[in-house]
Order: sequence, then structure tokens, then C-alpha cells
Amino acid sequence: MYDRIMVRFGELSTKGKNKKDFINLLRRNIQAKLISQFFHFEIETYYDHLYIVFFEEDPYLMIKELQEVSGIQALSLVTKVNKDINIIKETAFYLIENKKGETFKLIVKRADKSFPLRSEEIIRILAKEILSKTNLRVNVHKPDLPLNIEIRQEGAYLFFETFLGLGGLPLGSSGKVMMMLSGGIDSPVASYLLMKRGVSLEFIHFASPPYTSSGVITKIKDLVTTLLSFQDQIVLHIVPFTKLQEAIYEHADESYAITLMRRMMFRLSEKLAYKRKCLAVASGESLGQVSSQTLDSIKVINEVSNFPILRPLITYDKNDIINLAKRINTYEISIIPYEDCCTIFNPKNPKTKPRISEIMKFEEQFNYQELIAEALLNTEKIILKLEK
Ligand code: ATP
Ligand code: MG
Repeated sequence: MYDRIMVRFGELSTKGKNKKDFINLLRRNIQAKLISQFFHFEIETYYDHLYIVFFEEDPYLMIKELQEVSGIQALSLVTKVNKDINIIKETAFYLIENKKGETFKLIVKRADKSFPLRSEEIIRILAKEILSKTNLRVNVHKPDLPLNIEIRQEGAYLFFETFLGLGGLPLGSSGKVMMMLSGGIDSPVASYLLMKRGVSLEFIHFASPPYTSSGVITKIKDLVTTLLSFQDQIVLHIVPFTKLQEAIYEHADESYAITLMRRMMFRLSEKLAYKRKCLAVASGESLGQVSSQTLDSIKVINEVSNFPILRPLITYDKNDIINLAKRINTYEISIIPYEDCCTIFNPKNPKTKPRISEIMKFEEQFNYQELIAEALLNTEKIILKLEK
């Protein structure tokens, strides 16, 4: 009945001269996504649409996969025929006849203005055929069978349903960012939002063995593996953070430990981001969620870096973050209990308004630059890929 999936670009259509690059990127991402599960398909690209031609594959399973590819606005399962009104009429009748329902509606879009019949004329011809050969009635408000007919340059497309895509921009079109990934709920959601917006990610995780267990690393890998749904290959950097953390606790007031720790994390992230040719650093911070996420704290933490720091969740409520985490399947992994390097050395009264003069005083107590260099030297790089 159907032979291809129509892919609509949405926001992409407005991107002017970069459009070609965007379409190529989207095509590449679609290919990478589908090839992990399907063999018999081809991708056709046109100026503002793209089609997946399938053979012997379940198109509904394909659509489900495509709904995780950023830059796709909508998807329809279509049948393509020649732009001949008799063929269009026969196909429309065949499609309607083979679907259950009592009422129908015809929605015609004539994108190809050179087609000799206007939309109203096409509707009249098709409706006449269907009304004379079936018991169906027309219902323009709530039809059981809304049949779409799109006349384009290369052919006519007929379809009933449209499925929503992820939206956003094709992955990679917004450059690469170093994402700080903890084992919590927030950072995987922040990652998803960035990827959806076209940002490809590398991940950095700070591990503090033996205070944090190897179970945390497993959890981090599981989270990254889940995020492979949106990016087919991900580089994860595991940074040994123990020595820096111990130095902080040795030399600084307990109430400043978190602030100092986060400054070290941002210093490390920036350095690795630079080395890995990332354009920015990102975190899962949300305003006011914990003491280190007040604006006073964010300001003094931010000061260590000249890189743009992206915080996609800054205005999000926890409930909204949780709902998103459930939708992208990271929630169940995130809530597995784990030792965070922040919870291990959990100070009783962390500063919500840390003072820069105090911070400077503590940071002069030890040679953190050397510890940062050592941590970077011993950083482990892991590559995770979508299973083929
Ligand atoms: P999350 O739910 O993502 O763990 P959180 O609400 O627990 O966030 P914090 O622990 O203050 O908040 O961390 C804020 C952000 O800092 C995290 O979202 C993450 O981006 C980064 N971060 C915290 N701990 C680590 C870590 N061990 N490794 C890498 N990034 C981290
Ligand atoms: Mg956390």
C-alpha cells in the first residue's frame, strides 16, 4: 500500500544557503540511525523534502526510529504515483477502500503549480469517484479517513497520517560541545536538549575513586548508551578527580568545598573542550536547585572560564526535567542510587553566596594547576557506538 516515508524538515526550510549542508547532515544522520536495524531502504532527497524508500521493512518501526532524529518536523507514510489525474484517482480510491471508516475528507496541496488542475478540481474529481463507488460520506471536521494528496515536482504523494518528529536541528549543525555528565537526572536531559538543537556532544565525567565506586562508571556508560538514540557515536572522558577533591578538603573551609570543586570542574572541562575542539562547555544546572546553582554561586564558578557555558535547564522546574528524563529513558538509570563526588564530601552548610576573596584565599593554599594537569594526563577516553 505504501512505498516510502515522507520526511519534513520544519525549521530547516528557513535556513537559506546553508540548507544544502543541513539536508546532507540530516541524510547522514538518518542513514546512521536506520542502518543499525534495517537493510532494505534508500534515501531520496529533494529541495525541501526527503524520502525513505523501503522494501520488505516494517515502516512503522522505521518511523519510530526516525522520531529520535533531530531536525525532522514530521513524518508520513506515503505512496508515490505519477502526476496523472487518472492514476491519482485510482490510487486514492484504492487507499480509501482498503481502510476502515465511514467518513472521509480530501486535503489537496498543489506544491507544483505547473500541474494543470487546481486543488478544488482535483478534490471534485476524486470525491466524485469515491462517493459513487462506496458508501462513505464526507466529513470535513472529523473525518475517519483524512486523505492527503500532495502534488510535487517529482510526483504525487498520497497519505493518511502524519507523525510528529523530534523537531530541532540536524545533529552536528550547531557544532560540538563538552557536556558535563554526572549520574543524576538533570545532565542527561540537558544533553538531550542540546542534541535536539543540533549540538553534537562529547561527555566529561569526574570520578573520585575509591570514594565513588566502579558502579558509577557503569551507570555513566549506561546513560551515554541510552543517549546514543540521538547521536550514534559518543566520546566519553573519565577524569580522575580524587586528588583535587582531597586537596580542597585539606586546604579549604568546608562551606566552600562545593564552590571550589565546581570551579575545578569547569577549569578541567574548559581545557578538555579546547583540546577536543569543542565550542562550549555545558552542564545540567538549574537555577536555585541546590546551593551551587544560585546566581551568586554560578557567577563565581563561571569566572574561571572564558568559554561559553551552556545551561539548557537553567529555567526548568524539577518536575519538567523528570518528565523529559522519563521520555528519553534516562530516568530509570539516573535514579539508581550512586555515590556522587559531591555527595561523598557533602558539607553541612554550603555557601549560597560565596565570596571571591575567600575563594582566592583557599585556592592560593595549594597548587591546583599541577593537579589539573595531572588529572588531564590520566583522563580515560571511551568511545561508545550504536550497535550495528
Ligand atoms: P544532575 O542531576 O545532573 O546530577 P544535580 O542537580 O545533581 O545535577 P549538581 O550535582 O550540582 O546538580 O551538578 C550540576 C551539574 O554539574 C550537573 O548537571 C553536571 O552537568 C555537572 N556535574 C556534577 N557532578 C559531576 C560529575 N561528577 N561529573 C561531571 N559533571 C558533573
Ligand atoms: Mg548530581
